[in-house]
Amino acid sequence: MHELAIAQQIVRSVRAEMERRGATAVRAIDIDLGLLEGLREADLRAAFDVEAAGTPLEGTALRVTLIPARAFCPKCGVPKPLAMPEESGHGAVSVTCPDCGAEMDLEGGRGFTIRSAAMVLEDP
Ligand SMILES: [Zn+2]
Repeated sequence: MHELAIAQQIVRSVRAEMERRGATAVRAIDIDLGLLEGLREADLRAAFDVEAAGTPLEGTALRVTLIPARAFCPKCGVPKPLAMPEESGHGAVSVTCPDCGAEMDLEGGRGFTIRSAAMVLEDP
């Protein structure tokens, strides 16, 4: 259900932007998606197709870039590489330091950003 909520927000904000610019269609949408959202690109694309059906965004290509998170160990006091499991699933992600076992602070890798939307403008 999580991916549907995100897809809904994408459709809503891109359609609002289309209205502002007087665009008739959108060729492609680029979004950055935080890896910690635990979503697979294919799932988000499928959800987008469902949400875009019957709107001017139907058939628009959704390009997803996954943005990794950074981890910082408060005990070691240094940033650490973050190895994400293939399928992190939904819910809270907790990652422990490989060196001391403390729970690390995660930074970034959450939410999504619409980087660009290639709008087709109406002929003047
Ligand atoms: Zn540590």
